[in-house]
Amino acid sequence: MDRWEQLFIKCQNCTKCGLHTNRSKVVIGRGNPSSSLMFVGEGPGEQEDLKGLPFVGPAGKLLDLLLESLYFKQDEYYIANVVKCRPPNNREPYDEEAQACLEFLREQFILIRPKIIVCLGAVAAKYLIDKDIKITQDRGTWINKKGCWMMPTFHPAALLRDPSKKPAAFEDMRKVRMKYDELCRNCK
Ligand code: SF4
Repeated sequence: MDRWEQLFIKCQNCTKCGLHTNRSKVVIGRGNPSSSLMFVGEGPGEQEDLKGLPFVGPAGKLLDLLLESLYFKQDEYYIANVVKCRPPNNREPYDEEAQACLEFLREQFILIRPKIIVCLGAVAAKYLIDKDIKITQDRGTWINKKGCWMMPTFHPAALLRDPSKKPAAFEDMRKVRMKYDELCRNCK
């Protein structure tokens, strides 16, 4: 059994936090696990919980469209979340839930070894970049952590709630495209 299979089994059997009680499916990730570019969101929503895949509801469709418009192919990135089970009513994960689940995300980072990580929304940015980060103020800024380039930007669900944020989100993704072209085009 390889390390990905072990990770899947660990997540599927996980009861480390209360979110396991209401899940339909554990949501681990989608996309190319050999990619150098990763997007990390907050947690699964209703559609994701039913299908067992992240970002497959309306917010995920918007993210895919945004990435397509910048000529990213689906096999050029991998998407995961801070928590692998759906928080009730799409609330933010509690700190103890996120802390319990981060072990799995860290394992995904070890297996994927991304050169670029884009944090989609405040929850991902808080756990991966800086606990005091403010998305509106800090979005679109690159931070290098241990050789990995990280950027916070809006969660696509925020763009659905407030379409006036779309131009800024597009600008952030354009920077991701440029960084990807600089670092990753021929690397995997
Ligand atoms: Fe386990 Fe993460 Fe699900 Fe909590 S959210 S039960 S830590 S897999």
